[in-house]
Amino acid sequence: MAIQSFNPPTRTLMGPGPADVHPRVLAALGRPTIGHLDPAFVAMMDETKALLRGAFLTQNLLTMPVSAPGSAGMETCFVNLVEPGDKVIVCVNGVFGGRMVENVRRAGGEPVLVADPWGRAVDPNKLAEALKAHPDARLVALVQAETSTGASSDVKTLVEIAHDHDCLTIVDAVTSLGGSELRVDAWGLDAVYSGSQKCLSCTPGLSPVSFNERALAKVKGRSTQVGSWFLDLNLVMGYWGPEQKRTYHHTAPINALYGLHEALVMLQEEGLENAWARHRRNHLALRAGLEALGLELPVPEAERLPQLNAVRVPGGVDEALVRARLLAEYNLEIGAGLGDLAGKVWRIGLMGYSSRRTNIMLCIGALGTVLNDLGHPADTGAALAAVQAALAG
Ligand SMILES: *Cc1c(COP(=O)(O)O)cnc(C)c1O
Repeated sequence: MAIQSFNPPTRTLMGPGPADVHPRVLAALGRPTIGHLDPAFVAMMDETKALLRGAFLTQNLLTMPVSAPGSAGMETCFVNLVEPGDKVIVCVNGVFGGRMVENVRRAGGEPVLVADPWGRAVDPNKLAEALKAHPDARLVALVQAETSTGASSDVKTLVEIAHDHDCLTIVDAVTSLGGSELRVDAWGLDAVYSGSQKCLSCTPGLSPVSFNERALAKVKGRSTQVGSWFLDLNLVMGYWGPEQKRTYHHTAPINALYGLHEALVMLQEEGLENAWARHRRNHLALRAGLEALGLELPVPEAERLPQLNAVRVPGGVDEALVRARLLAEYNLEIGAGLGDLAGKVWRIGLMGYSSRRTNIMLCIGALGTVLNDLGHPADTGAALAAVQAALAG
């Protein structure tokens, strides 16, 4: 029999991403495809750049979405800013810091690791020590929101320390943009990248990036060519502008960009700071429910991300079975632990459109029910009441 059209099940996405895509974004994706150099499309590109500047809180002219997922935004920063032989300090406290190290190596740079335990923030003192020990370092790279562990690092302080040592900074804001405080200009970030499918409530596949003048000067002043043709900003800039005349570089993912534009319009309507506050409020409600179920959040409170909650798997509970049952019985996706935390935690995301009351109630109700059914006592009624109280309070 011929293969039929694919109709995905309807899920609630409370893992590490993608998050639930807002219906307005899904509707935008289906609008008519036009040419990527059509004046109407070019005008939409300009609006998208302006909306992204609003989300990043920056005036940077070079602010645009890379036509590929967050990992390509990461790679854009490294291939453009790292030249062979450059020493780069990379703060590693989870999976994504580890990927940055790999990016430095592949760009011909020499990575110097500042390691912190998984589930903890990057320690500013360790960064300062590493910079003292390596005065020839050119760049510092760090992750604001480590999605692999749920730990949040103090970007403002870390960037300040890097600048005290005349280093440029690359910041991963894939999971933080739209979900927690991020101020690109006020904090002086030099290059930053994000993703569309986390706190922006959009589909995966686009990576907003922003480079300030100092970072751009480094790109333009390279003595070697950028190793990637597709990600070479010297070429991409001819397409995404600031220049008035756009020249063909690649075909933009036109409909995907309609989706991002709509997601950013929605963020503007909500207000950036209101979005941060919503993520925080819903995190506190989820936490109240989890704690009432008798579950622990291993990341220290001051270092917890509101949009990604690591939850310790109780002893004797089969963590994969719980996730499988949540998916099969409740259409609810939560994430598994990665790396050092594999098998030890679940990762519950409250990102973007997923960060809402109905999702918290579903998650706590379903998780409590499944835990009880597997013989692990949990007071689901009390937990739902705790969520309700936190949301009211
Ligand atoms: C998801 C994520 C990425 C990678 O984004 P993709 O869209 O999956 O390529 C990078 N960094 C962090 C912190 C992330 O959470």
